[in-house]
Amino acid sequence: MAGEAQSDCLFCRIVAGEIPATVVRRTERTLAFRDIAPKAPVHVLVIPHAHYPDAARLAAAEPEIAGELLAEAGRVAEDEGISDYRLIFNTGAGAGQTVFHAHVHVLGGTPMTERMI
Ligand code: IMP
Repeated sequence: MAGEAQSDCLFCRIVAGEIPATVVRRTERTLAFRDIAPKAPVHVLVIPHAHYPDAARLAAAEPEIAGELLAEAGRVAEDEGISDYRLIFNTGAGAGQTVFHAHVHVLGGTPMTERMI
């Protein structure tokens, strides 16, 4: 069923605590943790607990949670002390998406003048 945890999904397993992650924020419906291969001094991923393959499909099915994802991304930036940052939603393998569980990258802590991811 839409939104249900998938046993073969890396980020579902992080939400379940089966795979360790450096968690920076957690809410009832979202989780924020540091990217394992950071592309900037601040590189945090914000994900919904619910499994949707990408952010657009999350927004179509659960617009409230999609809004929470953005609000949490802003709170991560605030917690990290950065006012300038980039939010990225890679959608589809051809765009660089490698984990097919909706997530937004929060990137910052350095001048964001070039393509980084
Ligand atoms: P995508 O390329 O937009 O799908 O982003 C997936 C991100 O997940 C990449 O930036 C990876 O470095 C990151 N990643 C993969 N495995 C882990 C992990 O176990 N913990 C934290 N981040 C991860």
